[in-house]
Amino acid sequence: MKTEIYNAKTQKENGTNLGGRLIRAGGLVAFPTETVYGLGANGLDGEAVNKIFDAKGRPSDNPLILHIAKKSDVKPLWRHVPDDARRLMDAFWPGPLTLIYLKSDIVPNEVTAGLDTVAVRMPENKTALALIRAAGVPIAAPSANLSGKPSPTTAEHVIEDMDGRIDMIIDGGPCRVGVESTVLSLVGTPTILRPGGITKEMIETVLGSVQVARAVLNPLQEGEVAESPGMKHRHYAPDCQVIVAQGSPRHAASIINREYELAEIEGKSCIIFATEQTKGYYRGRKYVIIGDRDMPSTLCAALFNALREESGKVDLILAEGIPAEDQGLAYMNRLLRASGFTVLNK
Ligand code: AMP
Ligand code: MG
Repeated sequence: MKTEIYNAKTQKENGTNLGGRLIRAGGLVAFPTETVYGLGANGLDGEAVNKIFDAKGRPSDNPLILHIAKKSDVKPLWRHVPDDARRLMDAFWPGPLTLIYLKSDIVPNEVTAGLDTVAVRMPENKTALALIRAAGVPIAAPSANLSGKPSPTTAEHVIEDMDGRIDMIIDGGPCRVGVESTVLSLVGTPTILRPGGITKEMIETVLGSVQVARAVLNPLQEGEVAESPGMKHRHYAPDCQVIVAQGSPRHAASIINREYELAEIEGKSCIIFATEQTKGYYRGRKYVIIGDRDMPSTLCAALFNALREESGKVDLILAEGIPAEDQGLAYMNRLLRASGFTVLNK
């Protein structure tokens, strides 16, 4: 299959109009959002949605998010719109917050992987919104990467994984947030199933307290049922080992330096994921500065690109853990999964 590549800046409506037509015709179109690139299909057409799972190699038990272009478009997708959802939509849509509630009959089982709930969000990206409007249907979209790989934050990443497998890629430049949306279930006690750009602290200003699913920062235990099917699958893994060093910046750096030396003795090549605050600890070693520890959003924005850059080039990535607060919770969720929960604190 030939994959058309369009530029969102120079080919604006031409790109989104063609994309909309392709989606209505049952095709697959990758598009930019403020979080990561999505791989979209007609969310009301089960057959089209199945093609997403094929193109990504995604396990069919992992449900998708429906993307809409205006708040009222959620109405036909849910049984009704609960008050909590209304208040959250007013506060955070368009934006990186996905809400899960009981699905209506028009939502195909292919989207929800057979669950009776459906995840919906309104992205904050002009190209994404124009594409959804042009398609005239909700767009079902997971991240536009091969299943298991780090999510794509540039069109180049999407091309790497999807060229020849999908109909079209719309290039909208790098994504602002860089990690996938926050996923909040509103069935029962509001629970964050996946942290993202809209933080627990921000949601609590609207709802009071919310829970965070245990699996956000912990590996699933044997026999434990995942609240979100996505939590049981290996995620964000580069083609090399990743170790996370926990503790104060100085303590984490001393662990990293020790592991670096040990790995070098074993003949392994390493890179350190450093921060502005800690780069001084790593003089003479190979490191990249991911961002600023005091602004975890900068770390989120850079993580997936850094994982892709180093994947296959080095044997070992040594990364600092940061406090799991505010956007740090999303960062640690992705980093821990990329490491397969390989953590050192001594
Ligand atoms: P992705 O589309 O790759 O961003 O992943 C969507 C995430 O939302 C995955 O972790 C899914 O497991 C989760 N998700 C989507 N729909 C539901 C749902 N109805 N119930 C629980 N989790 C969901
Ligand atoms: Mg994904």
